[in-house]
Amino acid sequence: MSDTYHDRLRSEKSPGERDAPSRRDFLKTGALGALALGTGGVAGTANGQPRTDVSGIEAPGDAKNIIFLVSDGMSAGTLTMADLHLRRHHGRRSNWLRLYEEGRVRHGLMDMASANSIVTGSAAAASSWGSGHRVFNETLNMSQKGEKYRTILEIFRDAGRGTGLVTTTRITHATPSGFGINMPVRWNEDKIAAQHLEREYDVLMGGGARHFDPDQREDGRDLHQEFEEKGYTVARSKQDLRDWGHEGSVLGTFYDTHLPYALDHQNTPAHQEQVPRLPKMADAALQRLSQNNDGFLLQVESGRVDHAGHEDDTGGLVYDQVEFDETIGRALDFAEGRDDTLVIIATDHGCANPGLNAAGDRYSDSPKMFDRVADFQYTNSWILSELDADSTYRQIQDRVAEAWQFPIRRDEAELIQDALRGEYQAAYREKSDPDLLLGAIQANYTSVNWVGGDHTADYVELAAMGPGSEAIGDFTRNTDLFDLMVESAGVRDYAQG
Ligand SMILES: [Zn+2]
Repeated sequence: MSDTYHDRLRSEKSPGERDAPSRRDFLKTGALGALALGTGGVAGTANGQPRTDVSGIEAPGDAKNIIFLVSDGMSAGTLTMADLHLRRHHGRRSNWLRLYEEGRVRHGLMDMASANSIVTGSAAAASSWGSGHRVFNETLNMSQKGEKYRTILEIFRDAGRGTGLVTTTRITHATPSGFGINMPVRWNEDKIAAQHLEREYDVLMGGGARHFDPDQREDGRDLHQEFEEKGYTVARSKQDLRDWGHEGSVLGTFYDTHLPYALDHQNTPAHQEQVPRLPKMADAALQRLSQNNDGFLLQVESGRVDHAGHEDDTGGLVYDQVEFDETIGRALDFAEGRDDTLVIIATDHGCANPGLNAAGDRYSDSPKMFDRVADFQYTNSWILSELDADSTYRQIQDRVAEAWQFPIRRDEAELIQDALRGEYQAAYREKSDPDLLLGAIQANYTSVNWVGGDHTADYVELAAMGPGSEAIGDFTRNTDLFDLMVESAGVRDYAQG
């Protein structure tokens, strides 16, 4: 690495802003000693008692296993709305917030900035965790000069640990790639698929079959076959995943592109038949990786929460976040009663910052408007997939009513018609696209509205439990999580390559 953790820590602060830890302290406590000192203040313990000892990880190497759960593009409002939805319609709160309520996790805010912007993209965000370097947006674990940073999955692989990536996006997408791939441009997904073949991680599951398929790859290579020749089980369906005996290595590509949204999946028999969901994939990955005597690192991503944010789609957002929360439950089931598993729960950036707004007399309309989300049958992306510039306002109304279970007004349908024809312009020009207009119209009925259709600079939620989590303070720099994982798993020796 070109710069040490210590240097980076210092470069964040102006001289005199606080005392730098001495080299002796650094050696004694590991890099995370410095991390904990950097956060300052009094931190809480797992049982909620205040602690003053923030000397970092107590015994580096105690985390045999690490499960890193990411809801991609999860704004604070998304976390809130999934919790509200579960409380109002399922009689329980979200696992994520239950952990807060019960004082079982360390948590705080995290600064996810990339090398070139205070607004980050998923490639740079995942790279900051995956190699401990801030890189330019759209880049995976490389400097602008082409220097490759060693990735955390390579480090764990070389240390004899199990390695896994599970996602609802294409497996070649930014967040899984940020843990195991070096690529100057994240959109080179054919090349990312080929790099996975070389890197030989144990478990790869998600969508993105098209990047392994000879008919869809630019170079015509049959990567599914090449993975099989390397001894991988190649799973292409829910049944294939059931048939896999959790032995050896697995490549699961369960859909051509991203997996369907959870909401569309639950109402589309063909998807239900063919495509496994995130909790099931995570379970299968854990069953396989937990057989590794030396432990493992597994990243699990709910990637389409971000996509629903980009589309200003409350249905897509809430149901995928609820599914992510169920996946947190699976990880907690695994970690329960063990003292060797570090569970990190995070997001990589906000996206479109949705929120439930006040509505009605003394805001009494807000709850019942929000409750309409519970009746949704399909996402906004499902609605728009069958509409085009020639759609009539009636066709638009019918399609929306099927998805949302209530009609929209004719003037609203006509605005969508204008947007589909490219003739609609919002005051905030970013919001002129049909999907963002549809999101704004949806807000007339749900009271959930959005600031835009892209990522935001908001500091994000970070939570962790298990060995190493004691080093998490109130405010964390994204790259610190790389050091936390390497130190708590005791694999620092493999970080130099
Ligand atoms: Zn995004």
